[in-house]
Amino acid sequence: MSSMSIPNDKKIAVVTGASSGIGKATAAALAQEGWHVVVAARRKDKIEAVARETGGTAIELDVTSQESVDALASQLDRVDLLVNNAGGAKGMESVKDADLEDWQWMYDVNVLGTVRMTRALLDKLIAAEGHVINIGSMAAFTAYAGGAGYNAAKFGEGALTRVLRLEHVGDPVRVTQIDPGRVETDFSLVRFKGDQEKADAVYADKLNLSAADVAEAIRWAAAQPKHVNIDRIHIMPRDQA
Ligand code: NAP
Repeated sequence: MSSMSIPNDKKIAVVTGASSGIGKATAAALAQEGWHVVVAARRKDKIEAVARETGGTAIELDVTSQESVDALASQLDRVDLLVNNAGGAKGMESVKDADLEDWQWMYDVNVLGTVRMTRALLDKLIAAEGHVINIGSMAAFTAYAGGAGYNAAKFGEGALTRVLRLEHVGDPVRVTQIDPGRVETDFSLVRFKGDQEKADAVYADKLNLSAADVAEAIRWAAAQPKHVNIDRIHIMPRDQA
């Protein structure tokens, strides 16, 4: 944990995948609104930098490890908001050429990572009249050639989000899914395993969302009155549909 300890007079948000992209921008947007943000991801140097910039607390987290998730949960007495943002895609092979290791990684991070985190923090979230915001994707409702592994994972994450919402109707907890279209982040660099040229081509000569655009949707959903549940937000750049 970074030197900044967790205060007991502020609302606490846990943002997974907060070392870059949408998660990093979300930490900044929430901090500006008075949240204390637990900045969680695997890359220690990056989460510590984000925590310094946002006045938050960095906690190393690998959502594919139950031990790591439990270690984070054990450090928190109270949680008002959980943003399950850690995730991503690997590869764009056709189904015929599917790389099952990539598929397994995508399922583990996007689906099981979300379940591990939610399961570990749900009692605390309910006790705080809290909120779970899961970052889905356009790929959670639109199939595309080469997207099967990521589609399967994000459709799966979407299913668990809807089930969670249904299972807790009547409990003091809100559940939201935010589905971005094309956002210019390290997402494509990860998908293409470090091939910068391929990653750049995804965003070149196009209107793209910025990570801050998506962070604003997250901040807004969290800022609604406690009786208002934003079920789902689809957010795209203007020239994508
Ligand atoms: P990004 O910049 O690559 O960020 C991904 C984040 O996930 C990083 O902070 C990474 O941190 C974290 N992460 C990956 N594996 C992890 C693990 N095992 N444990 C903990 N953290 C892990 O990409 P992004 O675009 O911001 O992606 C954020 C979310 O938005 C993802 O769920 C992605 O699927 C979704 N999304 C992105 C787009 C887009 O076009 N960019 C569109 C729709 C949805 P570490 O490597 O430090 O662990």
